Amino acid sequence: MAVPEMYGSLVFNDKIMRAKLPKDIYKALRKTIDNNTHLELDVANSVAVAMKEWAVENGATHFTHWFQPMTGFTAEKHDSFINPVGNGEVIMEFSGKELVKGEPDASSFPSGGLRATFEARGYTAWDPTSPAFIKDKTLYIPTAFCSYSGEALDKKTPLLRSMEALNKEAVKVLNLLGNTEVKSVATTVGPEQEYFLVDKEDFKKRMDLIFTGRTLLGAMPPKGQEMEDHYFGTLKPRVAAYMHDLDEELWKLGIPAKTKHNEVAPAQHELAPVFDTTNVAVDHNQLTMEIMRKVADKHGFVCLLHEKPFDGINGSGKHNNWSMTTNTGVNLLDPGKTPAENIQFLVFLMAVISAVDNYADLMRLSVASAGNDHRLGANEAPPAIISIFLGDELTAVLDSIENDTFFGKQAKEKMDIGASVLPHFMKDTTDRNRTSPFAFTGNKFEFRSLGSSLSVSGPNVVLNTAVAEELSKIYEKLSAVSPEAMTDEVHTLLKAAIAEHKKVIFNGNGYTDEWVAEAEKRGLYNYKSTPDVLPVFVEEKNVALFTKHHIFTESEIHSRYEILLENYNKSIHIEAKTMIDMVQKQFLPSLMEYIDKTVTTASKKKAFAEGISVKAETALLEKLSGQYDAIYDGVTKLIADTDTAEAMADELEKAKYYQGTILTDMAELRAVADEAEALIPDDMLPYPDYAKILFYV
Ligand code: ADP
Ligand code: MG
Repeated sequence: MAVPEMYGSLVFNDKIMRAKLPKDIYKALRKTIDNNTHLELDVANSVAVAMKEWAVENGATHFTHWFQPMTGFTAEKHDSFINPVGNGEVIMEFSGKELVKGEPDASSFPSGGLRATFEARGYTAWDPTSPAFIKDKTLYIPTAFCSYSGEALDKKTPLLRSMEALNKEAVKVLNLLGNTEVKSVATTVGPEQEYFLVDKEDFKKRMDLIFTGRTLLGAMPPKGQEMEDHYFGTLKPRVAAYMHDLDEELWKLGIPAKTKHNEVAPAQHELAPVFDTTNVAVDHNQLTMEIMRKVADKHGFVCLLHEKPFDGINGSGKHNNWSMTTNTGVNLLDPGKTPAENIQFLVFLMAVISAVDNYADLMRLSVASAGNDHRLGANEAPPAIISIFLGDELTAVLDSIENDTFFGKQAKEKMDIGASVLPHFMKDTTDRNRTSPFAFTGNKFEFRSLGSSLSVSGPNVVLNTAVAEELSKIYEKLSAVSPEAMTDEVHTLLKAAIAEHKKVIFNGNGYTDEWVAEAEKRGLYNYKSTPDVLPVFVEEKNVALFTKHHIFTESEIHSRYEILLENYNKSIHIEAKTMIDMVQKQFLPSLMEYIDKTVTTASKKKAFAEGISVKAETALLEKLSGQYDAIYDGVTKLIADTDTAEAMADELEKAKYYQGTILTDMAELRAVADEAEALIPDDMLPYPDYAKILFYV
């Protein structure tokens, strides 16, 4: 099949809807999708019939409401279309009611205590703005997941709410600036996804990869990523075949996979789609991760999405490219071609800069996880300090506005935001700095701190909401200004905002110690780990932000805070338990075997000839048995401390203990084990080592 035909062939997209639906029904549905209006049941019924027909034509027998509970994975419960009609016969049926609402048993999903205080049941509600699709002979209907009293139990509900908040505030500001054509503003996202591919047979032999997604033991091979020969390198045939298959599967689902290449680390790769409306991009990224795993299995690989599968080698992240687009097709972060667009651009740019400065703590929170803690600030990913890279040119523009100085190479006039046209900030002049967590890249911002396994929902909820808040403040300040005075007032407002928020702008190298010191002087947040940053969620200023814009109620915030803490504690707990098992059941026995072998060799040699040298064996034995003792002590301490952690009642205290004590225990234990691993013969190691996993694909 040619790609254009294949593309979206499993999606109930606009083209199919237009072909399958009666005209008035299509119009009504379109209105719901475009303007977020309520959908009448007769429309839903009619859509359901068309959807079912199309799905059955394409081989589907079941349907499922597809949702994104707080586990970070997607969830689904399949029902078949069949309906018995007597005489042992069935017909295929699907009603509007089944389309718009589902009632999965909510009790097994994390709710952070919400269900204790509220209604026990939950329901899923159709999100008509994200298209339905067919996968594994099942019609998938993207939905939001709530409790019966309306509390969000998922990652999509707050995302939709945040998009709505930004839409509302952005339109108000645009209309105020004289742009009355615009009826709605949507945020757009293009997530670049990194991943590792390892051989399935290797994976199966590593308990750590199976249970935790990352290696807990493993000495560095003689060659790591220092040769920099992998980045953009030629694809190996097996990997190329995988990527090809992956692209096709994604295209069928209407996911515009566009770019693929090798990444910095060996066995690491990246996939980037063309950007889309935020909720669709979030759904697509969840699907992409799932399909990546599935296609890998078919090719004898396992796709690792953990942030740090291998120590000493770059981990995986996700870049969240983000912007705002009007229904008239204008990207609000594009400098534009006229002075009016100029003002508009500067206002929205300043809203983003102020948002990031005021809510950098929430942005850091939104990317916090046990896995991502291995990357942020470790000189392979942005630092944990959130700052903005603007590039020299745009920074100079803001400087000249703030100081009423001159801007531009030829123009020797005062920077007048109402008269001059801003230069277009070419990507190549702005995209060089890879050490910045939040970089302006010509016509969008790239939030680079996300971990590879993370749902991109959370970071976008924070971004959308924080920007909505700054826009609402701008609106308040300007709402009484007359059209004639507007340009001057905007100028005044920009000047003040730049002076207040320029501290978050940093164009230099984010990996240096000087920046850490400088950021502290500037008063920027630097939350080093997940337990450090989680409590900001429940701080007054942040609760006020989320409740004001109806993103979260106070109880939703507290429930999510609990869930985040629990998730963190559980992940480290599983890691500790897995390491204990690996060391006790696999590593120490192997080491013992090698010690035994060495002893046997030495005594056999002695018996063979009186006075023969056993110098090497003796030295080796001393080393090995020293390591054996140290590993034994290390694992004993880890066991005791893990028991202590388990007994702790306060989840935040527990998280701090896992972070401070357990992770340190694990690092110390690993250090000696890795020294020993370097001495143990390959065929005596209980699992494939780094060299085998990383360089033999
Ligand atoms: P790189 O960061 O690797 O240089 P690209 O310039 O190719 O990447 O773009 C990265 C991502 O940014 C792509 O997914 C692209 O679709 C997305 N992108 C481009 N424009 C926008 C926009 N206006 N809003 C959101 N994402 C965008
Ligand atoms: Mg990028």
